[in-house]
Amino acid sequence: MSSLQPVRGTHDLLPEEMRRHRRVIDVARAIAERYGYHEVETPIFEFSEVFQRTLGDTSDIVTKEMYSFTDRGGERLTLRPEATAGIARALISGGLTQLLPLKFFCHGPMFRYERPQKGRLRQFHQIDIELLGVPGPEGDVEVIACGYAILTALGFADRITLELNTLGDGESRRAYRTALVEFFKAHEDRLSADSRERLERNPLRILDSKDEGDRRIVADAPLFGDFLNEASRSFFATVTGGLDALAIPYKLSPRLVRGLDYYCHTAFEFTTETLGAQGTVMGGGRYDGLVETMGGPATAGIGWAAGIERLAMMLDDPPPPRRPIAVVPVGEAAARPALKLAERLRGAGFAIELGYGGNLGKRMKRANRLNAAAALILGEDEIARGGVTLRDLDSGAQEQVALGALEERLAPYR
Ligand code: ATP
Ligand code: MG
Repeated sequence: MSSLQPVRGTHDLLPEEMRRHRRVIDVARAIAERYGYHEVETPIFEFSEVFQRTLGDTSDIVTKEMYSFTDRGGERLTLRPEATAGIARALISGGLTQLLPLKFFCHGPMFRYERPQKGRLRQFHQIDIELLGVPGPEGDVEVIACGYAILTALGFADRITLELNTLGDGESRRAYRTALVEFFKAHEDRLSADSRERLERNPLRILDSKDEGDRRIVADAPLFGDFLNEASRSFFATVTGGLDALAIPYKLSPRLVRGLDYYCHTAFEFTTETLGAQGTVMGGGRYDGLVETMGGPATAGIGWAAGIERLAMMLDDPPPPRRPIAVVPVGEAAARPALKLAERLRGAGFAIELGYGGNLGKRMKRANRLNAAAALILGEDEIARGGVTLRDLDSGAQEQVALGALEERLAPYR
């Protein structure tokens, strides 16, 4: 029954996996906040236009990967494949361009019709930051530093490499483009069909090709560095100088181009060798042309997105679930008092499990399976005394505690 399977390329986030995701999101949000980024959320679907215009008609995402549909009102809509376009749209439609600079953090599901494999899904999740309205290279340094701080806080510092490149300004890119077209034209008959198509419309894309034959040709292609004008060189020098000052290690990757059309100046990726083929965990860059492309005012922008699934796989130990305290009533008469006690302790901030039936032994077994830290046993004797029996489930030590003193005594189990 195919309808009882998850759709290919989607997955369920069951509690352990969800805890890994949560950890990535919580760490990222907390660190982004320290850099002054505010959390936002845009809709999961937008008019298809939003992505077509900004990602460019020749990008892989637009040509092959978009989940698009026509709704009942006849609108062409697309499930977002990435976050930047929606945020740029929100900037324009919300009139926020008056308030620049703005700093946004977001996270959530993204959708791309890709060939599913380890670390590559059709519904996956990203964390993402966007810095809007900062044209200078100090913006690039901050955005990269924030990404690095998050990856470091997650414990990945010694497993990641920051790969860095510059795509220069418009003038430099035009000069490079001309040289690239000339170079690839000379090898056109050996290029893949995809890349032949990219040759006229977006030759930079060929550098990003995953085709083996293309890669061999690309190895000899002219380098961007030789076409950068003075302004672009100096911009990039300030970026690398800032990273040096912050002791953030990086590797210059002259072939690194980002998959999307609107990037300029700084392009970067954090990669790891620990995940096999899908080794890029975070990618980003400067996209000064994007907001204008969408019909808004010229607005500088830089940001990154990171795949939560890939980061979650890198976490050594999934954070354990919170250890509860088990409230264990013994006998009919204890049921009601136990119910009330559980609610009172939850109100005081404790995690309480109230078993759903069975005798003392059965309930204690269940408490152990839930990794409860302690049990509060409530039987006839205890009720008569106005107290409970507290059993520490690690040491087995047991003591009587008066009901009135319970919150205080339980503080270590919070
Ligand atoms: P790739 O080269 O792996 O296809 P990309 O350039 O398409 O990556 P971006 O659009 O830059 O990726 O997205 C940023 C990050 O989101 C990637 O570095 C990766 O961690 C994650 N990501 C992208 N696509 C997927 C996917 N299909 N499944 C899981 N994670 C993904
Ligand atoms: Mg991709």
